[in-house]
Amino acid sequence: MEAPVKKNDYYDVLFEDLTHDGAGVAKINGFPLFVPNALPGEKGTVKVVKVKKGYGYGRLMKLSETSPDRADAPCPIYKQCGGCQLQHVSYDGQLRHKQKIVKETLARIGKVDVEKVTVHPTIGMSDPWNYRNKAQVPIGEREGALIAGFYQQRTHEIIDMERCLIQQTENDRIVREVKAILNRYHIRAYNEQTHQGWLRHIVVRYGYQTKQAMLVFVTRTADFPHKKKILAEITAKFPNIRSIVQNINPKRTNVIFGEETKLLSGLEYIYDYIGSIKFAISARSFYQVNPEQTKVLYEKVLEYAELTGEETVIDAYCGIGTISLFLAQKAKKVYGVEIVPDAIEDAKRNAKLNGIENVEFAVGQAEEIMPKWHAQGIRADVIVVDPPRKGCDHSLLQTIIAMKPKKVVYVSCNPATLARDIAILEQGGYETKEVQPVDMFPHTAHVECVSRLVLKND
Ligand code: SAH
Repeated sequence: MEAPVKKNDYYDVLFEDLTHDGAGVAKINGFPLFVPNALPGEKGTVKVVKVKKGYGYGRLMKLSETSPDRADAPCPIYKQCGGCQLQHVSYDGQLRHKQKIVKETLARIGKVDVEKVTVHPTIGMSDPWNYRNKAQVPIGEREGALIAGFYQQRTHEIIDMERCLIQQTENDRIVREVKAILNRYHIRAYNEQTHQGWLRHIVVRYGYQTKQAMLVFVTRTADFPHKKKILAEITAKFPNIRSIVQNINPKRTNVIFGEETKLLSGLEYIYDYIGSIKFAISARSFYQVNPEQTKVLYEKVLEYAELTGEETVIDAYCGIGTISLFLAQKAKKVYGVEIVPDAIEDAKRNAKLNGIENVEFAVGQAEEIMPKWHAQGIRADVIVVDPPRKGCDHSLLQTIIAMKPKKVVYVSCNPATLARDIAILEQGGYETKEVQPVDMFPHTAHVECVSRLVLKND
């Protein structure tokens, strides 16, 4: 069938829906057009920019009717950057949208009966700005001076940025000042095309509770021009920077970090707290980027786990052991498994740091380690999973079903794979009771959920 629209033509449309990545959807004779920056209920004129088999993309040219959920995006570089997708939606509208996406995805992909399963309203932030505790900024040059900012959408051109509205203000301040110091020493940026130059990225991590900061220079080569003077200026200006490290990435790649990390000043890690638990965070370990909402998320995990102190818990995909240690306070024993060896080193160090002894950590693929635990006779009352976007490995789900924990708490950053995995667990004898979306990434299209599943009486 031929598409009922033509590239470069204009159409007056009514937007009916919003996709999971924040684009408006209009239908022309049933043919869906995806249009950024448009909201359900709005009417406007679009120009078709791309036609594919079965769908197309449009650009919003004019709005004739606007939605009550429309907001003015406060960020002046919102459209150029692409890091946020929902700043043109009121915060309340964003939270409702995320709940709806979860519901629809569970029903469509997981065939979950959303009449029976409660998908709660999304828990948002009271002040949904300045939340990110980690800034990773690419470095470039303009007219001989360093610029630090972001890649313009769909390009590799770096745009200079002084302020990101979802970033901790302190992180932005550090990047701005460090950039000024480096410019005084005529430091050169890495150039992707020529694979020459030196500084590739500046990464800043910030301890939300401790106010300690870490500064990471990602460089192409292991040298460091004017090292002493530069470090002295930085530490004089920022006494809260407790750790300065250099990571060397000599490869032609988009991946930020290289293999080698050197300590330049202070300690190799900074500390932060989630609730009353203290964590050491090193340059490369995974740590949730929204500390305020992380606490909300983990408290929900704890609530859904319903621990009395007698339970054995498995925390699969445990990272640096954050959820494991959070749950260990209320459980008899917690086992954590994670694929990255450094993260498990951190997890063990974090357990010690807090004097928590009822945890055991293993390095490896969760889908390989868990069957071993099962064979050793370890019985879990609760299994928590928090996989990356691609969801749980199929065999891991089969192991959960074989281990028959009374409860499964599934933490997910991708509703589509959550829905797929829930369907498998339901076939294996579990019933989904409730799903709680938590807004970990305000103004972006990302949705995080905690789900509570229980074993049906057999
Ligand atoms: N629960 C942690 C980390 C969640 S992120 C927290 O809240 O901080 C997901 C983690 O899964 C990452 O640390 C990643 O390294 C790990 N991972 C990815 N694939 C894995 C696998 N097959 N087995 C075990 N861990 C895995």
